[in-house]
Amino acid sequence: MRPQVLNNLFRPTSALKGVGPRIAKLIERLAGLKVVDVLWHLPRELINRQIQPDAASAASGEIATLTLTVVRHEPARVKRQPYRVKCTDGTDDVTLVFFHARDDYIRKILPEGSLRLVSGTVDRFRGDTQITHPDYVLAPEDAKDLPLVEPVYPLTEGLTLKTFGKAVRAALEDIPNLPEWQDKTFHERQGWPSWSQALRTVHSPDGPGALSSENPARARLAYDELLANQLALQIMREKMKQRPGREIKGDGRLRTEVEKALPFQLTGSQRVALSEIGGDMAAPSAMLRLLQGDVGSGKTIVALFAMLDAVECGGQAALMAPTEILARQHMATIEPLVAPLGLKTAVLTGRDKGAVRKETLAGLASGEIDIVVGTHALFQESVEMQDLMLAVIDEQHRFGVHQRLNLAAKGRGVDVLVMTATPIPRTLLLTAYGDLETSQLHEKPAGRKPIDTRTIPLSRLHEVSDAVERRLADGAKVYWVCPLVEESEVSDLAAAEDRYAELKARLGDRVTLIHGRMKGPEKDAVMARFAEGPPSILVATTVIEVGVDVPDATVMIIEHAERFGLAQLHQLRGRVGRGSDDSVCLLLFGGPLSETAKARLRILRETEDGFRIAEEDLKLRGGGEILGTRQSGLPEFRLADLTVHADLLATARDDAKLILSQDKDLSTERGKALRTLLYLFERDAAVLNLRSG
Ligand code: ADP
Ligand code: MG
Repeated sequence: MRPQVLNNLFRPTSALKGVGPRIAKLIERLAGLKVVDVLWHLPRELINRQIQPDAASAASGEIATLTLTVVRHEPARVKRQPYRVKCTDGTDDVTLVFFHARDDYIRKILPEGSLRLVSGTVDRFRGDTQITHPDYVLAPEDAKDLPLVEPVYPLTEGLTLKTFGKAVRAALEDIPNLPEWQDKTFHERQGWPSWSQALRTVHSPDGPGALSSENPARARLAYDELLANQLALQIMREKMKQRPGREIKGDGRLRTEVEKALPFQLTGSQRVALSEIGGDMAAPSAMLRLLQGDVGSGKTIVALFAMLDAVECGGQAALMAPTEILARQHMATIEPLVAPLGLKTAVLTGRDKGAVRKETLAGLASGEIDIVVGTHALFQESVEMQDLMLAVIDEQHRFGVHQRLNLAAKGRGVDVLVMTATPIPRTLLLTAYGDLETSQLHEKPAGRKPIDTRTIPLSRLHEVSDAVERRLADGAKVYWVCPLVEESEVSDLAAAEDRYAELKARLGDRVTLIHGRMKGPEKDAVMARFAEGPPSILVATTVIEVGVDVPDATVMIIEHAERFGLAQLHQLRGRVGRGSDDSVCLLLFGGPLSETAKARLRILRETEDGFRIAEEDLKLRGGGEILGTRQSGLPEFRLADLTVHADLLATARDDAKLILSQDKDLSTERGKALRTLLYLFERDAAVLNLRSG
């Protein structure tokens, strides 16, 4: 149970003064549901409200704070006209303008003849100096109420800075004093404030330095977040490691058979990965290993060989894919290779119903099925396995730690191999998996040729269409990816449908469309036709992103490439260049390009090395731009910025390791404080895996 001391922070935002249901909705969209989410939403800029000596020198369009004498009120004579208040400071006349304001209210705050501090955006309009809806109007004796430096928060439509600022101040009013969970010596050496002091400081920046990620208050909060992340991961990992493992060591009989049937030789890195996996499986503790390899690097075969070891030892193996298409595709690779050996395979997805499903479940429970490939449907309770020895999770970041545990729970001491196609930079790897053992496939399978990658402005679309038509005539298969137009699937789809209609008008039946709204079987049928049929163009929304394998596809066209993240572009490009034919990737961009977008496209032209692309991606993400993380499913941090705080992450990892080695159930005084930290960052599941203390 979450400690009571955190209750205030976990109230809904509507519990805050000034936040009603409507505002709460807006805040939810911006920051989250709870009070603590408001506090985690940090300012990005500042407004300087230092009092200015004279109105005449105030710049148009900028915020100024002026000391004005109220000269005369000019109420609106007809509706829709604004209420004007004429003022002066001797250097210039300034008109304050109010729309839809109550007259009596304006008279009250701006009595004629009085002196007022007025702060707001200055506008010079037809020789007149105006401030429309000043942010602050104060009597000189209340000058202390004027925030001289005001934080500016990223906002959402309909939510004003004033309203959000108020919510933040209300949230700060009753933040609890939490026990210090940081190591005392470390905390002192860093010169960091306490948790509550840090929160107050980040929300009342006193100058631009306070916005820097290196500011001690910000660094403290970032460290807290990273420590919670690392502790939680290590607790879960410990939990998995404690599972009694089994020594699984095949004699290589099945492997040898399959290898003979393969039309290619394994690459050096595939062999290394296999021996690492084999070592883990043979060890008495349960395996938890990450197999990292770029698209097309040949992870499936590695997984298959590992599964064969399990089957050889009399057990079962499961391979779980993120989507239906991928599950079926994995099966299409695996089945022909293992059926001749007399092994029995099955597919289990959410789509399988009735008799087929029943039969599969029975086969899994009896042990008749050796290898099962499926989607998250494999997690379901109704799925029982006679003796699951190895679970392979082709994750593409879509599954969480819990689900991994769930699948592992279907057997005794199940070995778990997680596969990921996105090469993840070291730092991010640590945040997503902790210190996991990893095997990497660095080499591309032999015979692959580099992909000719070019960037072309969208204005030359017709040339691209011409080129595609020629390629098609030469027998090429073409992917044509349409971008995310807005954050909405509907408009996303509309763009793809338009392009489809256009190409179809020109090229007829050789054009097909695939998108995320299609039902599973429909999607599979389209994919199958593209894979097995004659040369054609597949117009797609980003649904093809996830690892579909059509070796003879050689052209990839990506419209509005500038709207995609670097990792995503790399993934998409990896759909071609899988066979022995020359492949091209055309990145069509709409101008003008931001510097980041330019850099992204340049990197893609320069390299196909996924690991390098991943590192560059992380670098480009600086400045608060969360590029790619959302799509990739990697953990997002609210307070830590990994482009700046990578050192803190490494420290947090070591800290977490040390903590758990000395106090594995977090039962000491500091341990209890750390439990509070875990709850604060909603790592409840991790705490539940500790012995109660
Ligand atoms: P990944 O899952 O890593 O994206 P796959 O396992 O789907 O890659 O492999 C991509 C393609 O490469 C498949 O058609 C597979 O048969 C082939 N392949 C795998 N290993 C090799 C190899 N060593 N040499 C040549 N081709 C290979
Ligand atoms: Mg794959």
